[in-house]
Amino acid sequence: MLPEVEQYFRIEKLPHLWCPGCGNGIIVHSLVNAIANLGLDQNRTVIVSGIGCSSRASAYLDFDTLHTTHGRALAFATGIKLAKPELSVFVLMGDGDCTAIGGNHFIHAARRNIDLTTIVFNNNIFGMTGGQHSPLTPSKKRVTTAFYGNLERPFNLAELARGAGATYVARATTYHTSLMTKLIMQAHLNRGFSVVEVITACPTAYGRYNKLGSPADMLRAQRDNAVNIKDIEDSAVPDDKYIIGELYRTEKPEFIEIYLTAVKQLQKKGGQ
Ligand code: SF4
Repeated sequence: MLPEVEQYFRIEKLPHLWCPGCGNGIIVHSLVNAIANLGLDQNRTVIVSGIGCSSRASAYLDFDTLHTTHGRALAFATGIKLAKPELSVFVLMGDGDCTAIGGNHFIHAARRNIDLTTIVFNNNIFGMTGGQHSPLTPSKKRVTTAFYGNLERPFNLAELARGAGATYVARATTYHTSLMTKLIMQAHLNRGFSVVEVITACPTAYGRYNKLGSPADMLRAQRDNAVNIKDIEDSAVPDDKYIIGELYRTEKPEFIEIYLTAVKQLQKKGGQ
């Protein structure tokens, strides 16, 4: 491990449980690079995760961490931010955790525009629980619960987040690590609900069922299928490609500020 990131890990918890070739470690590395570049205080930074392969990351990271219940990471993070608004709070979830079990929490955190930095590890599948399809599994792809191909249409996570009220939405892949780090930094600097979707590889379940080749082949596919938003000349992006980069940014009142203002006003009234 590189000395500059070692301080952010609970070395005694390693080795990690991820399969060889899993993209989760790449995302965690970009996250700690972003935290280091931002100069965040390790004692005032909180990592909250749900359940699943990706959410295991909180066990390895040496911050105040909370490994919560399935789909509920944002509910716990909302409580932390309300109690201690000065803390930097990162929320790590897999695609199934975030958009299936946790879908309701996701849209309402976005609707409130609460100041949380959310990273969604999108490997198109529930990895840890056996390779079931998630709301982000592409149509026709094979998984254990759709052995002849997924009949459902997936969410576009970025559009879902934007439509629900998130004020910063971005997408990267585990191939584009420098971009990922930059997007996580920008997401954290946004005062509001921020979402960075990271397309990652689960070679053990999704890759194997869909004959996507080795982990290196899956990374090459990310390179070949991603189109940087800066390189798009018109709006036509083929269906089998996805756009990466900063997809959406706007300003809206942030929930904690609204809440604290309301508390102050009520305290003033109470004191009259
Ligand atoms: Fe990674 Fe998939 Fe293995 Fe889970 S099952 S650790 S997501 S490769």
